[in-house]
Amino acid sequence: MSTTPRYRFAPSPTGYFHVGGARTALYNWLLALKNNGTFVLRIEDTDESRNEPQWTQGIIDALAWIGIDSKDPHFEGPYFQSTYASEHVAAAHKLFEAGKAYYCDQTTEQIQERAKAAGLNGYDGFSRDRKLGPGPGHVLRFRVPEGKTIVNDTVRGAVEFENSTIEDFVLLRSNGTPVFLIANVVDDITMNITHVVRAEEHLPNTPKQQMLWEALGHTPPVWAHVPVLVNEQRKKLSKRRDKVAVEQYREEGILPDAIVNYLMTLGWAPSGDTEIVPLQKIQDEFRLEDVNHSPAFFDIKKLQSFNGEYIRLMSHDAFVAAATEVLTGSAATWPAERYKPEVFAAMAPLVQTRVAVMAEVVPMVDFLFLAEPPIDEAAFAKAFSADFAVPTLTEISKAFETIEWNAESIKLAVETVGTQHDVKLGKLQGPLRIAITGRTVGPPLFEPIELLGREESQRRIRAALVRAVG
Ligand code: GLU
Repeated sequence: MSTTPRYRFAPSPTGYFHVGGARTALYNWLLALKNNGTFVLRIEDTDESRNEPQWTQGIIDALAWIGIDSKDPHFEGPYFQSTYASEHVAAAHKLFEAGKAYYCDQTTEQIQERAKAAGLNGYDGFSRDRKLGPGPGHVLRFRVPEGKTIVNDTVRGAVEFENSTIEDFVLLRSNGTPVFLIANVVDDITMNITHVVRAEEHLPNTPKQQMLWEALGHTPPVWAHVPVLVNEQRKKLSKRRDKVAVEQYREEGILPDAIVNYLMTLGWAPSGDTEIVPLQKIQDEFRLEDVNHSPAFFDIKKLQSFNGEYIRLMSHDAFVAAATEVLTGSAATWPAERYKPEVFAAMAPLVQTRVAVMAEVVPMVDFLFLAEPPIDEAAFAKAFSADFAVPTLTEISKAFETIEWNAESIKLAVETVGTQHDVKLGKLQGPLRIAITGRTVGPPLFEPIELLGREESQRRIRAALVRAVG
């Protein structure tokens, strides 16, 4: 066994990269960094009907995005399980030769019939002593020894399994191909893995895998099964029901630092009174022993609020750069040539404090780049149903002709009209905001009015008045 710890992440490339997978990968990665060990990436690509190269690339890209960097010296791989098929078969044959596995010719129907008659759950070991060799329709089964198997799990403590409840499980299918259980163990042995940190759903496989480690003459690794992630209804996150793809969060503008920090707080917490902490602190403090074993609620709202905090921690330039990517990308609703970087840069501080995800930047500033504000008709009708709307806006537009053009004077002019009509500023801003921005909510109003310019602001107010009086 190697002296430095070797962790691994062993995803099956069968779809988008799941947030639960990202958390498992992070646990392994941070432990490898913390303990100066190795993080092995092994792509378990043996299920040919479900694997696709695009999913493998997706995993590699998503890992890089959350900081699991293949160029870091702690990273090893990716290895591909399919390239080790002959080692998996050889190990199974070795178990057969040692009498620890045997061939069985029983069909599913035969097994079920006998199980039914005997009141058993599964296979009854019918072929254990029949001394069959390989042949058509023969599977190779592991001879489960008598006794108990105790899995010492770092998260869950000692978990005891009565071997009598575990049937003699299949190692090689009748077509000679190895099953997941043995492929996974043989690769872990070959790759000198010392710690298997993976999802809780694999716990039932673990006594079988531990038996295989022992039968193949090796000391089993340290096991740790981390709790499942559940949704609001406390149901296990599923790709059909829930938003689980890391790629999707990335596209929506969740920042990698925010999702990493958030994922690390599911079932574990850093010391101190805030969960929003630098990665180095997480790396220093994280211990598998402290991971909670109850299911962890993956709360999208909380992830977004983490993200908002991370957005606020960004420097002005970093925020402008990140927002520019969104504003000049496919999310832009205006013709590209209408985008003005200097206008956005001036607005940026007002926006940075108000968004939880980068995608929210678009509706906050679109009115500055669109030729016409994107009017929300229902909201417009409501805002202009107030008696004060038309007369006050008419006066505001008039005042705009002569005032000095800056946010402060604009605000003062609006306030003055409000005082004359006995309407509070907050209320008065409703129709004005919708005339200028098309929306009922958004960033503070007077700076963008200044940025939009005197003429354009007046033009928008006039257009709104025309729309309102019909
Ligand atoms: N390939 C397995 C999966 O994606 C992981 C097995 C393991 O981590 O041992 O569920």
